[in-house]
Amino acid sequence: MIEDALKILGGPAEVRGDVPKELFAWPYVNEEIENAVLDVVRKNKMSGTDITEQFEKAFAAWQQRKLGVAYANGTLALQAAMFAVGLGAGDELICPTKTYWASCLSASQLGASVVFANVRRDDLCLDPEDLERCIGPRTKAVMVVHYCGHPADMDPIMEIARKHGLRVIEDVSHAQGGRYKGRMLGTFGDVAAMSLMSLKSFSCGELGMLVTDKREYYERAMAYSHYERNNEKYVYETRELLPYHNLPLGGMKGRVNQIATAIGLIRLRDYDERIAEIRRAMNYFLDLMEGTPGFRPIRVDEATGSTMAGWYSPQALYVAEELGGLPIGRYAEAVSAEIGIRLSTGANFPLHTHPYFRDIDLYHAGKPTRILFAERDVRKLDEALKASEDIPCISIPWFVKYLPGEIEKYAAGFKKVSAHYKDLLDGAENDGTGGHWYAAVN
Ligand SMILES: *Cc1c(COP(=O)(O)O)cnc(C)c1O
Repeated sequence: MIEDALKILGGPAEVRGDVPKELFAWPYVNEEIENAVLDVVRKNKMSGTDITEQFEKAFAAWQQRKLGVAYANGTLALQAAMFAVGLGAGDELICPTKTYWASCLSASQLGASVVFANVRRDDLCLDPEDLERCIGPRTKAVMVVHYCGHPADMDPIMEIARKHGLRVIEDVSHAQGGRYKGRMLGTFGDVAAMSLMSLKSFSCGELGMLVTDKREYYERAMAYSHYERNNEKYVYETRELLPYHNLPLGGMKGRVNQIATAIGLIRLRDYDERIAEIRRAMNYFLDLMEGTPGFRPIRVDEATGSTMAGWYSPQALYVAEELGGLPIGRYAEAVSAEIGIRLSTGANFPLHTHPYFRDIDLYHAGKPTRILFAERDVRKLDEALKASEDIPCISIPWFVKYLPGEIEKYAAGFKKVSAHYKDLLDGAENDGTGGHWYAAVN
């Protein structure tokens, strides 16, 4: 064995032996959680709403909003958010093209059209400078995604939204507990909605949450998919909804399995503490990585009061030019071998490149669903999205425990590949995983 050769070329791996389990143990399970789950099962409360209502109140308070509604998953919470702000047939929803599909796909259920905006390379979030390009006479709302834990640049986004009278929905699925200039994410928009599924940093199993300060949005969100709560106890102020009590207005059943909300109540007790630990560990790793050729951390300037919360699916940018043009996929492959974690590249693929947004005719209406009721062919606007295609990002390990000695080994794995890049240049044609979504940790 050649002692300092890259693992992928026959040398020893940089991370060897046992890795302490707590370095990546997420989501954590403890006895309190186990007992809470068993209690729901033993009392056959899975389909009740008592625990869910407790969680809604507690979560909304933690999220610094007045009202909260839980859903069976984040996808439905986001759909309810669209309905809540009044998105309807012919309206347009602006959404960054690089996000998980659930940020916008269900706009089709409401007859609305999605207009995609570019994301910025340095934060992978909606580029405020691209926002006005997307606005047309029928633009109703903007979906802002705090992508891969990074807070979107809310000051200019809110300013433009206000100027044009647009509603703002925040998708906080990747960033529960994060801050933008000191203010909690999820408190900027008219409504915020998010996933709390198992892999997210706020992890409860299949569960979604919607929060808002406005009674009307809450009532519309509740009526949309909670048939057993679409009644005078919850929905009494929004006049146009009153005749329609006792049916879910979108025909969706959003009730939550209370195993998830029981877990959520316990998570709330120490989530802030846990994400502080993640922040310490991730910042330590990225401090070590500063200046590594080919590698650019994607992080916030904490001096401004912004934070990355739970660092869900953390990413870095890869700069091939600094490593002789070494393709990103080959770099990822080599680092993965050093550290024993399969890294992915490209994060989510840009949604506008999918045929769904060109021609699918879901309702057999003789017209692509995306523009079914549209006043303009919003597909033409996709031509301006080249900047969001092929963004060379690479997933990085998600350290959830501050164990400096261990974290140093992972940084050394990346640095080793950067130092030995020339050994990889021959015949390297790996362009990466191209936006397929892999969990960052084996
Ligand atoms: C996970 C995710 C969702 C969807 O949530 P589910 O709970 O899986 O339905 C929505 N938006 C983003 C950005 C996500 O990552």
